[in-house]
Amino acid sequence: MEEKDSSVQAIVAAIKDAVRKSVASPYTSEDIPLALHEPCFQGNENAYVKECIDTGWVSSVGKFVDRFEEELAAYTGVQRAVAVSNGTAALHMALLLAGVKADDEVLVPALTFVATANAVSYLGAFPHFVDSEETTLGLDAEKLDRYLSVIGIQRDGHTFNKATGRRISVILPMHTFGHPADLDALIAVAEKYRLTLVEDAAESIGSFYKGRHTGNFGRIAALSFNGNKTITTGGGGALLTNDEDLGRLAKHLTTQAKVPHAWEFVHDAIGYNYRMPNINAALGCAQLEELDGFLQAQRRLADRYEKVFAPISGVRFVKEPSCARSNYWLQAICLDGADFKMRDAVISSLHAANIFVRPAWRLLYKLPMFESAPRMDCVTAERIEAALINLPSSVRLGRGILEKRGHDAS
Ligand SMILES: *Cc1c(COP(=O)(O)O)cnc(C)c1O
Repeated sequence: MEEKDSSVQAIVAAIKDAVRKSVASPYTSEDIPLALHEPCFQGNENAYVKECIDTGWVSSVGKFVDRFEEELAAYTGVQRAVAVSNGTAALHMALLLAGVKADDEVLVPALTFVATANAVSYLGAFPHFVDSEETTLGLDAEKLDRYLSVIGIQRDGHTFNKATGRRISVILPMHTFGHPADLDALIAVAEKYRLTLVEDAAESIGSFYKGRHTGNFGRIAALSFNGNKTITTGGGGALLTNDEDLGRLAKHLTTQAKVPHAWEFVHDAIGYNYRMPNINAALGCAQLEELDGFLQAQRRLADRYEKVFAPISGVRFVKEPSCARSNYWLQAICLDGADFKMRDAVISSLHAANIFVRPAWRLLYKLPMFESAPRMDCVTAERIEAALINLPSSVRLGRGILEKRGHDAS
């Protein structure tokens, strides 16, 4: 126990050092709270939002929505991007468009934000929880393959769950904290078991797997621009797809399925009011202009954390997978052999010092609404849950390191 106490102290001291000592103001003082992730508005945000207000184009249509969609598609390299009201709505639509039906099962990580599984439930389908893998923190393809070969049965070109009798239609990997999941291996599993791949890329704008932007690998993918994400539109999300017909359908269904006409109100399907308002898209256009700078700041911060933790035993900084370039949306460490007690000791000492770190999510099958959901054993996800701590990851913090270095050099 004494050994663990001393390593808790060393880890807490290292984090304080990383975020307070080597950064330019305003974070050097202990009195200044350090949030987990703050948005950064230093570009054209004001000008573009003001333009919306001045012209009256604040709501459901406007030039910023079209521009944001075009620029998103260009940046991520997909054929079509459709801006929507939030990432959860994007996931709901992505699963609907991928053909998920009521009573299907969808393979999702146990270690993810609750929205991944909620979106499955919105369609009357069931999340089926899968273990994670230590290096990417994403779905473990090899373990899933072995598991499906035992619990699955092939019939009529689909895989069914032998125990529940339900069709397993979609596999929904999530790129955890911006680190791309092992997509090649997951695509192989999807092909073998005839599952449609949909990506929860909510956390991974700016993250690339083998040189291609995340969200390009699935039939369709969901992004989020919530206030705590790499870039924000206040609230917002997007669908990405390389199938133009599917992209058109995505736009149609997320905008009330209205048949275009100068005055008639005719709708040809049950649509959704999931569109992104122009005022939010204006913010998004300005944030996209800043994205490269944000990514650079996050990599500096990752370097800083890596250096600080290198000499400390009992802790590992979570680095991007070897074949990927991560946006490092949320920086993270894993404690060796951690239990919840040790993890919470680190977190509570840092909160006392105004540094708002947080644990990973409670595994989803431990939440009341998913307690009886089908799942494999999730030993690795359980270990990550007890060991992982997300560290302050604001762009301004990374920029502070840049500025400080600039000062030191001059
Ligand atoms: C943020 C997030 C979402 C949901 O996005 P919202 O825009 O908040 O609705 C979904 N999945 C994951 C993994 C997320 O991190």
